[in-house]
Amino acid sequence: MEITFLGTGTSHGVPRIGCSCEVCTSNDPRNKRFRSSLLISEGDTSVVIDTGPEFRLQALRSHITRLDAVFYTHNHADHMNGIDDLRVFSETAPLNVYGPPQVLDDIRQRFPYAVGENPWRGGLPQLILHDVPMDGISIGNLNFVPIPLVHGCREVYGYRIGRFAYLTDCKTIPESSLPLLSGLEVLVIDGLRYKSHPTHMSIDEAIANARTIDAGTTYITHLNHRVDHGELDAYLPEDMHPAYDGLRISFSTVERGETHVRY
Ligand SMILES: [Zn+2]
Ligand SMILES: [Zn+2]
Ligand SMILES: [Zn+2]
Repeated sequence: MEITFLGTGTSHGVPRIGCSCEVCTSNDPRNKRFRSSLLISEGDTSVVIDTGPEFRLQALRSHITRLDAVFYTHNHADHMNGIDDLRVFSETAPLNVYGPPQVLDDIRQRFPYAVGENPWRGGLPQLILHDVPMDGISIGNLNFVPIPLVHGCREVYGYRIGRFAYLTDCKTIPESSLPLLSGLEVLVIDGLRYKSHPTHMSIDEAIANARTIDAGTTYITHLNHRVDHGELDAYLPEDMHPAYDGLRISFSTVERGETHVRY
């Protein structure tokens, strides 16, 4: 299994429009952040988590040519507004889309043309919406387990896939979700900025939560324009790193139910 960070930025992206701060004008390519999204590949299977406004650019940059499914974490614009560009991936067969109930309701309301019944409607996405079973759903060899998280006043999902978990956009992790996060090789967690924020973890909160979860390695994502990649890398403990667009991580094992399959 391999993950690729398609985007690691907060809702504005980095640089932020009209800003001339040091990070927005930095020459370090790791300070250029599309809106947060993740590609997961394993064998012939490709899955994306969230399709923000730059999904087309992200798909081109990472040479995505097919998708087996899309998972959504929540219905904020920076995670959903690239949905129309899924039409390429549903030209020959409808594309399966999974998410929490509020995302599925939102897609039905905002993008009704993408979930209609007609078999072919020229130029429109054809999506089939599915609730995510709480005990997980398998796409190829990958089992996606939803992790309920709190992001402001709403419950959103993170996802666990084998010994990897992706927890973008969250302020707190409910006590009941912690057992779902044991034994992780790699954790990706929200860490918007150094200063506290009402709906996102600060970097110190991300570090504290990562310590509680006790993953092998942790990457911080959904970073804003006040966070310089190099400075954050120096600030974080040795087993934690800032994520950046284009970063790929390969896993030697894929957890399939109770079994660890080694490749
Ligand atoms: Zn977001
Ligand atoms: Zn800036
Ligand atoms: Zn959000």
